[in-house]
Amino acid sequence: MTTSQQKYPEDDNQFVPRRHSMHLVSQVITRISKGAGTGTTAEAWGISRRVVRSWVKAYDQGRLEILPHVHHWDIEPPNGPVSLGICRGCLEEKKFRNHQPGDSADYSRFRMPHPNGKRKK
Ligand SMILES: [Zn+2]
Repeated sequence: MTTSQQKYPEDDNQFVPRRHSMHLVSQVITRISKGAGTGTTAEAWGISRRVVRSWVKAYDQGRLEILPHVHHWDIEPPNGPVSLGICRGCLEEKKFRNHQPGDSADYSRFRMPHPNGKRKK
């Protein structure tokens, strides 16, 4: 009788999402840990509540590790010089400058602003 084939016994209990990335799961859990409801969080991310609840349960059981995330800004429609953006993951708020009429912005190639100004590669 041997147990040498069990290389990672501690992984048996680790939660692994089936159809979503751990980064997404982490943002969902972070948002809920900030006081957001599972219902609104599931809606914001377009995930079923049942799935979100299973993640929360796994997190409560210590089977789910939260990864740091790159903020996922949901920015309100331009209405004035500045729009408020809220991170879908952690509900952090940040103001974004809107393009003014006359800017030579190419809106067809508009990209979401990155919090640090640079994309980590
Ligand atoms: Zn965030």
